[in-house]
Amino acid sequence: MNQVFAGLPVTVFEAMSQLARDNNAINLGQGFPDAPGPEDIRRAAADAVVDGYNQYPSMMGIPELRQAIATHYAHWHGLNLDPMTEVMVTSGGTEALTSSLLAVIEPGDEVVLFQPMYDSYLPIIRQAGGIPRLVRLQPPGWRLNEEMLREVFSHKTKAVVFNNPLNPAAVVYPREDLELLARFCQEFDAIAICDEVWEHIVFDGREHIPLIAIPGMRDRTLKIGSAGKIFGLTGWKIGFVCAAPPLLRVAAKVHQFLTFTTAPNLQVAVAYGLGKPDAFFHGMRSELARSRDRLTAGLTSLGFPVLPSQGTYFLTVDLSALGLNETDEAFCRRIVTEHKVAAIPVSAFYEVNAVTSVVRFCFSKNDATLDAALERLSDAIHR
Ligand code: GLN
Repeated sequence: MNQVFAGLPVTVFEAMSQLARDNNAINLGQGFPDAPGPEDIRRAAADAVVDGYNQYPSMMGIPELRQAIATHYAHWHGLNLDPMTEVMVTSGGTEALTSSLLAVIEPGDEVVLFQPMYDSYLPIIRQAGGIPRLVRLQPPGWRLNEEMLREVFSHKTKAVVFNNPLNPAAVVYPREDLELLARFCQEFDAIAICDEVWEHIVFDGREHIPLIAIPGMRDRTLKIGSAGKIFGLTGWKIGFVCAAPPLLRVAAKVHQFLTFTTAPNLQVAVAYGLGKPDAFFHGMRSELARSRDRLTAGLTSLGFPVLPSQGTYFLTVDLSALGLNETDEAFCRRIVTEHKVAAIPVSAFYEVNAVTSVVRFCFSKNDATLDAALERLSDAIHR
């Protein structure tokens, strides 16, 4: 069998959700809300199933969704995307990433990545024959700097994968870092594959800036988004890739043989959702920020050292100062079996065998769920 995949563990998100089910635990691991999602958007999907069409939609996505994506990004970020040649709908953010990576990387190409990184990047890069050049970001800021980029970028660099807002570190990168990365991409003629699935989940008045909007990046960036994240409907698996035609054309050749297309009725509903007024998105942000604050306050009062969360569904805690004498993985295994709360060990976001002391909790939950989890964790760090 193929050694890249045969040697892989089951993705931590699935493994932890399975452990949560097995142990009847509250699942603060995999990132998904426990609210059912906006009713009008779900209703639009239901109507489209019953009254709409249910046959193969066009491979690139239904025209009204491609138009809605272009209009949405024009409105929010001033981007000027041609819906027919620069926007593609995929079956989720993960497929968008895989289509983009396979479209760009050839054997021997170097690819710059920042750890912590989402666990799908590395196996796909390896399968494509790419050579990862890993940068380790440092807490608590997780910021980029000139020295770290100078170390990994070279004339062999084909691409950089950049996740902003960053899961699991919950950082929203400021313009300064984006401009720095853009400068390196241009100096070394590299393509940026930007995982921006958390673009709308930003807090405290922060603004997400897409790398594709930074001068010099328009024609060398593949921008990836996810309706599942934007609307809290993670099971829908509707993603997007936006890129200049020479890049998108090739990503589409991969997409056509990975999934070919995506459920048309859900596409109709996402097209409707993307046009909702700004107040909807701001309301969602403040709701999630409130949940973040509730979990932060609760964990802090239990003695957990909580790191700040600027965006995403997640916050992290650094266990190193607690003297627990266990890895993040052992801690997560213990709390899911003994305390019935699932979380994600951040070591899963590093190249194999990295040990960290950081654990990620998902806060996109009802107050009652968060309170019950806190109750169960009350003696987790006093052994
Ligand atoms: N992005 C989600 C998370 O970080 C997981 C998505 C998945 O499991 N495929 O929790």
